[in-house]
Amino acid sequence: MVSETSLREKLAACTRILAMQGLIGLFGHVSVFDPQRRRVFMSPSQGFDKTGVTEKDILVSRLDGSIEDGGARLPLEWPIHMALHERRADALAVAHLHAPYATLFSMTERAFRPVTLQGSIFCGGIPTYTQPHLVRSMEQGIQIADLICDRPAAFMRGHGIIVVARDIEQMLFSTLILEDEAQKQIMLSSMGDFRCISDEDCAAFGAAAELPGRAQRAWSYYCGCEKRLGHAGGGPVPFV
Ligand SMILES: [Zn+2]
Repeated sequence: MVSETSLREKLAACTRILAMQGLIGLFGHVSVFDPQRRRVFMSPSQGFDKTGVTEKDILVSRLDGSIEDGGARLPLEWPIHMALHERRADALAVAHLHAPYATLFSMTERAFRPVTLQGSIFCGGIPTYTQPHLVRSMEQGIQIADLICDRPAAFMRGHGIIVVARDIEQMLFSTLILEDEAQKQIMLSSMGDFRCISDEDCAAFGAAAELPGRAQRAWSYYCGCEKRLGHAGGGPVPFV
């Protein structure tokens, strides 16, 4: 069983890394679920400087959104997290972000297909939640969870993205991959047609099976970068 201290520290570090990478700021939040104690740990809400989040700033609540610890209110769109944590046994870490490039995919009819080997974790496609509204109720959260089904991400029209993973490390890595994929595809679109990775090549790369190991290495790398650069405003660190 992972300790509460470890979950708090990791989620705080994840928040700072995403801030360093320009993926969380005024908006956006990340969460992790402890299935044994049935508690959700979440990054602080709008207005908090995410570059300085520590384990003490992490909010603790139940799946119904009632706060257990943290002394503040949950981010407005907490139902995104709770619905996924409640309905999917493998959705132990969830990010909702207004990521600059990936969010553009929520505004186009173009279906997302991976163009890099790393991006093949999204081989099964990424659905779009087409309602251009904030997610304030569990009813909306459940609609999104049903839309995502067993996939690792969703776009939210005119709004942002959701990334779902088994742990904080995989959530961070998947988020970084998705934003990198989106940036590359937007750059490629100025060059005309571009080649995507086929389902067969995605399967051959084995991205899903290798994800835990790759995510752990990325975690160590970005934690080190954030320690050196995060507070000094030295990011983002290129995803190459
Ligand atoms: Zn949002």
